[in-house]
Amino acid sequence: SQDVSNGLRSPICCILGHVDSGKTKLLDCIRSTKVQEGEAGGITQQIGATFFPVQNIRKRTKELKADAKLNVPGLLVIDTPGHESFANLRSRGSGLCDIAILVVDIMHGLEPLTIESLSLLKMRGTEFIVALNKVDRLYGWKICPNAPILKAMKQQSKDVHIEFGNRLNQVIAQFKEQGLNTELYYKNKEMGETFSIVPTSAITGEGIPDLLLLLVQWAQKTMIEKLTYQNQVQGIILEVKVVEGYGTTIDVVLVNGVLREGDRIVVCGMKGPILTNIRAILTPHPMKELRVKGVFVHHKEIKAAQGIKIAAQGLKHAIAGTEMHVLGPDDDLEYVKEAAMEDMRYVMNRIGTSSVGVHVQASTLGSLEALLEFLKTPGVNVPVSNIGVGPVHERDVRKVSVMIERKKEYATVLAFDVVVKPKVQELAQKLGVKILRGDIIYHLVDQFKAITGCLNE
Ligand code: GDP
Ligand code: MG
Repeated sequence: SQDVSNGLRSPICCILGHVDSGKTKLLDCIRSTKVQEGEAGGITQQIGATFFPVQNIRKRTKELKADAKLNVPGLLVIDTPGHESFANLRSRGSGLCDIAILVVDIMHGLEPLTIESLSLLKMRGTEFIVALNKVDRLYGWKICPNAPILKAMKQQSKDVHIEFGNRLNQVIAQFKEQGLNTELYYKNKEMGETFSIVPTSAITGEGIPDLLLLLVQWAQKTMIEKLTYQNQVQGIILEVKVVEGYGTTIDVVLVNGVLREGDRIVVCGMKGPILTNIRAILTPHPMKELRVKGVFVHHKEIKAAQGIKIAAQGLKHAIAGTEMHVLGPDDDLEYVKEAAMEDMRYVMNRIGTSSVGVHVQASTLGSLEALLEFLKTPGVNVPVSNIGVGPVHERDVRKVSVMIERKKEYATVLAFDVVVKPKVQELAQKLGVKILRGDIIYHLVDQFKAITGCLNE
C-alpha cells in the first residue's frame, strides 16, 4: 500500500508539547476511524508509528475543498509523543523528523515543556505546525464533530469568538517572546517565516482535517528534496527492546531504501560497533482484536518509509538514536564500522569537555544530545566533564568521585531516564557522589541548580 508515487516517500511526523496538552489524545483522534463509519481507511499500525495513506487524508479533508494535489503516499506519524522519539530521530545532529506538531493547550498557553520542545525543534532545524488544542473547552463551545475549524467557528457565539481571540493573542504574544512569529494558518501569508496555528480539539475533532491537510501540503510543497525517495538505506534506531522469543530487538524507522531479511547490518553499540545479520523484519499483526503477545508479521523485504522491528543476534548494547548501516557486497567492513560509531563521536566532539564539570548519562544518544544542548544554553551553563549512554555503572561513579577535590558540586551524575542499580547508588553515597535522576530535562537541571545553590551558601 506504500506505493512510492511521484518518487516521494511519506513525510515523518512527530508530536511534541507540554504534559497534558493533549498529545496522546490528538494522536488517538487522528488515528480514529470513526470519521468514515466502519472504514479502516487503510490506516496501518507499524512499529512505533502509524501510517495514514493519502486516500484516507483526502477523504477526511474533503470538506476543506482542497484543490491542491496530494503527491506523497501518506503520512507516517510516530506513536510515542514527546521528546524521546523526536530527539532520537537524528542523523549527525540534524532531524530526520520531517515535520512536527507542537501541541499547546489553549487554556494554558506556553508551558515549560512547550519551550523545551521549541529549543529541540530549533536545534534539529525541524519545521512545525502549532495545534492550539482543547478549543472545545472555551466557555459555551458548540460541538461540531470533526469539522474544519472555520466551519466550526461559524457555529460559535460572539462570546466564544471573543474568548478565543483573547487566548489566541496571548499565545501569539508568548511565541513572540520566544522570538517566533505565529499566526492562524488561514491568515498566514508567509509560511516558513511565520509558523501556522491550527485550533483543534482532540476530543471532538474540530480542526483535525485542517491539521492533516496542512501537514501534508506543507511537507510536499517545501521538502521535495528531503522527501525524494532514495535507494540508499537510511534507518534510525528509536528503541532497543527485549521481546519474548526474539531476544533484544531494535525498533527502527526506515526513512529510505529497502531492507531484506538476511541483510548484514552494523549498528553503534556501547562497547563498539555491532555487526550482525537481520534474522527477522517484523510489523504488528493487522488484526488488533487478536492481540496475542508476540504475534508479528514477518517480512522478507520492506520499503521505506516504515516503522519496523528488527530481530538479530548481539543487539544487547545497541544505542537508540543512532543510524543503522547496511553492509553492501562492495562495502568495506572497517569503513562501515567507523561510520556506525560516527554518531557517538559526533556528540562526544560537540561537548567541549572541560576538566571540571558534571557527568551526564542518558538512555539514548538523542536524549543525551538534547540534554547537553540544554546545559550549554546561556543562563543554564553547566560544564560537562564526561558523558555516557545507558545505565550508570560503578566505574562511572569512581571516575566522578575524583571531581570532589576539584569542585565538589560537580561530583554529580545527571542521569536522564536511566537505571541506577542500588549497589551503584550505595557506592555513590559512600564516595560522596550525587546521582540526580529525572526524565524531564529542566526538572533535572533545576534539581542540580538547587543543590549547587545550597553548596554556594
Ligand atoms: P499528553 O500528556 O500531552 O499526552 O495529554 P493527553 O492526551 O494525555 O491529555 C491530557 C488530558 O487532557 C486528558 O484528560 C485528555 O482527555 C484531555 N484532553 C486532551 N485533548 C483535549 C481536548 O482537545 N479537549 C478537551 N476538553 N480535553 C482534552
Ligand atoms: Mg501522552
